[in-house]
Amino acid sequence: MNLINDTNGVSRVEGVALSAIAERFGTPCYVYSRAALTAAYASYRSALAGHNARICYAVKANSNVAILNLFARLGAGFDIVSGGELARVIAAGGDPAKVVFSGVAKSRAEMQQALTAGIHCFNVESASELEQLNTVAGEMGKRAPVALRVNPNVDPKTHPYISTGLKTAKFGVAFDTARELYRGAQALPNLEIRGIACHIGSQLLDPQPAADAAGKVLELVDSLAAEGIALEHIDLGGGMGIRYRDEVVLPTADYLAPMLTRLAGRREMLYFEPGRSLVGNAGLLLTRVEVLKHGEEKNFAIVDAAMNDLARPALYDAWHEIVKVGAGGTAPAGTPRESGTAKTENARQSQYEIVGPICESGDFLGHDRNLALAEGDLLAILSAGAYGMAMSSNYNSRPRAAEVMVDGEQMHLIRRREEVAQLFALESVLP
Ligand SMILES: *Cc1c(COP(=O)(O)O)cnc(C)c1O
Repeated sequence: MNLINDTNGVSRVEGVALSAIAERFGTPCYVYSRAALTAAYASYRSALAGHNARICYAVKANSNVAILNLFARLGAGFDIVSGGELARVIAAGGDPAKVVFSGVAKSRAEMQQALTAGIHCFNVESASELEQLNTVAGEMGKRAPVALRVNPNVDPKTHPYISTGLKTAKFGVAFDTARELYRGAQALPNLEIRGIACHIGSQLLDPQPAADAAGKVLELVDSLAAEGIALEHIDLGGGMGIRYRDEVVLPTADYLAPMLTRLAGRREMLYFEPGRSLVGNAGLLLTRVEVLKHGEEKNFAIVDAAMNDLARPALYDAWHEIVKVGAGGTAPAGTPRESGTAKTENARQSQYEIVGPICESGDFLGHDRNLALAEGDLLAILSAGAYGMAMSSNYNSRPRAAEVMVDGEQMHLIRRREEVAQLFALESVLP
């Protein structure tokens, strides 16, 4: 699904021209499509039809409350990794009873917060966390619902930084010791064993590793049942990849099929924790070309977005498609647009380094992009809905971008652009 549609030289998301969004809210600006978010969720729902399954959106991919609220309205649960994310889910109208809490080291305060809210389950990742949770729950006169996140040791064949299910990863508990830990958990009075979880990595394209992981998890589930430890749910994590460039991405149903084949007829409820695949292709980062700089070896298009807005290129050397935004006017298709803000009449076709204004050589958004550009042009950096705004920072004292959700012909500001004064409002000088 293409997020942008171009008609008569005007680039739109749903029914709204991107140039109109830039004019009204400025740049850099994240733009999301309600229809695209809804369609991504629906693809999971229909792929899971006939299964007793819950979709827990992984909040860390994009935690804007409007997005959380949209998924909550669609019936989603949430996968959180911090007390901050839990607070967001609740503020957005999410149901705590559909929340699973992942993460390698939850603080006591986070445990208390989640127990008070009444979440569905803690995905526990170590023996000491089990004990800590047992203590905290006991102090509160509660029983903490738990699942163990096991590490099935399968290679997800993805980027090493986003591969989490190998033996060398800091995540999960080793498969061989999981059984032992379940026995231990059963003996702790303030814990209630609910399920099992695994998550092997992110941006997964091949469905086989996830299916293999599910197979291994099932073996463990059955052997636990044989010794009287019955689980209510099996959480298969997230990780399905999206198309950034030319990746071959299976439709959701086809990606899940090999896994679901193994899970057919199980009595346990199935949980999924997709993040990227629900939001990634439903968002873009809108930015304006500030300066074109034609150097001896390289040509630079310096734009008003930077690595603080979208860290993935600098962090993972990730590739995002970058397209010029058509703003319309009377020019026939194919000729450079004219715009009140463009400083030059004629765009210059070149191989450009698309870079931000930050003082780091790593501050790039794309290398060697063949584009016809003039200063003042708008660009859209695609597939930026996941791990875009969520990973943004204020590096170089740059206020974070605005966020806008398009819904049909409407545009809604879902996060105001930060103001500079807010950036140091919490700081103070010495007396
Ligand atoms: C990050 C994460 C997810 C979501 O991963 P995506 O690749 O965005 O789908 C799900 N579960 C856990 C435990 C995670 O850490």
